[in-house]
Amino acid sequence: MARYTITSPDSPALAELCQRLAAGAASVDSSGAWPSEQLRLCGEYGVFEWFVGRDWGGQAWVQSDIVRGYLELSGACLTTTFVITQRTGACRRIETSDNQRLKEKLLPGLVTGESFATVGISHLTTSRRHLTKPVLRAQRVEGGWLLDGFSPWVTGADHAEHVVVGATVMAGDEATDQQLLVCVPTTLHGASAPPPLELVGLTASHTGQFHLDKVFLADEWVVLGPAENVMTLGSGGNTGGYQTSTLALGLAKAAIGLVEKESEKRPELKPALTALTDAYEPLQADLFAAVDGEAPCSTEELRTRANSIALRAAQASLVAAKGAGYVTGHPAGRWCREALFFLVWSCPQPVLEANLCELAGILE
Ligand SMILES: Cc1cc2nc3c(=O)[nH]c(=O)nc-3n(C[C@H](O)[C@H](O)[C@H](O)COP(=O)(O)OP(=O)(O)OC[C@H]3O[C@@H](n4cnc5c(N)ncnc54)[C@H](O)[C@@H]3O)c2cc1C
Repeated sequence: MARYTITSPDSPALAELCQRLAAGAASVDSSGAWPSEQLRLCGEYGVFEWFVGRDWGGQAWVQSDIVRGYLELSGACLTTTFVITQRTGACRRIETSDNQRLKEKLLPGLVTGESFATVGISHLTTSRRHLTKPVLRAQRVEGGWLLDGFSPWVTGADHAEHVVVGATVMAGDEATDQQLLVCVPTTLHGASAPPPLELVGLTASHTGQFHLDKVFLADEWVVLGPAENVMTLGSGGNTGGYQTSTLALGLAKAAIGLVEKESEKRPELKPALTALTDAYEPLQADLFAAVDGEAPCSTEELRTRANSIALRAAQASLVAAKGAGYVTGHPAGRWCREALFFLVWSCPQPVLEANLCELAGILE
């Protein structure tokens, strides 16, 4: 075991890693460069082991410990943590698949951080749902599937060895109600990742489209399906779940920390600090209750409230930091931009509607 391996959320090595990630967060943000050093550090500290079973060299952390870990990581560097969630989404889908050979081939390298995989599944849940022609189509052919189209949002596809993507099964030109989850090696002929998008925040996550131009994929790469609503089977990538709320709360917590620090020398900030803390703490308690299966509210309500506190806390931290916070490189300005991400990332329709009502001043 490496000297720094984090074996629980109480491990001092987690605080040490977070300090190192926080120190690099401004340059990750300003450069837009893929956070390879941050991810290498996470591999060295054993972060990728948290999410994977012991059979594959992982530590199989319980959900509440994962939430504690994510809360700390996301407050330190949201971009790196977000990339880890997409990586973990791919790992989970592979690990919960019945495809034993695929697990044996990919999981050991993913656990150590030697290889990188990511997911492109939102077009089956929250993206391009209003279009009649599916953006990524799978046609059955001898020995496998012919994949054609693109996945609109894939984080780190240009750095991945594999991308787990969802596709709609076609019968000729007609879409069927069957979907497929497959693991695509990025070196296959016809697979490509165009240059990633410039984003409002998290540009360094290198998010963009992943194109599959009539790519033949042998059956050995099938993760799940064909089946109806493939995303509701297995586990690892449901929209509006605890993970997205956890990252929003991690950002809120870091921003509240800045208000707290400023309030030590400026007592006039104390009432705002008290109000933000009073909003944050029950929400974090509800998150842990939900993770323990004692949900006091739906995951969608949790997400709506997490989005709200992330936006409010980030902006409060900017107010507390004043003009200095509006200068590039200050965390408050970065958090304001990053908080906007939660309004669009993996947001189910009821969460979108609730966020919109709040912003429009429509009372429930
Ligand atoms: C930075 C970032 C990283 C992401 N990373 C990943 C990832 O790694 N993996 C992954 O799977 N997903 C990822 N996502 C996708 C994300 O989870 C959401 O699915 C995505 O943000 C939904 O936005 P969309 O523009 O695709 O939505 P869409 O619903 O496709 O909307 C796009 C546009 O279509 C129009 N439109 C929408 N609905 C209708 C309608 N009913 N009728 C007519 N027109 C309509 C609107 O003009 C809208 O602007 C990422 C998203 C972002 C922003």
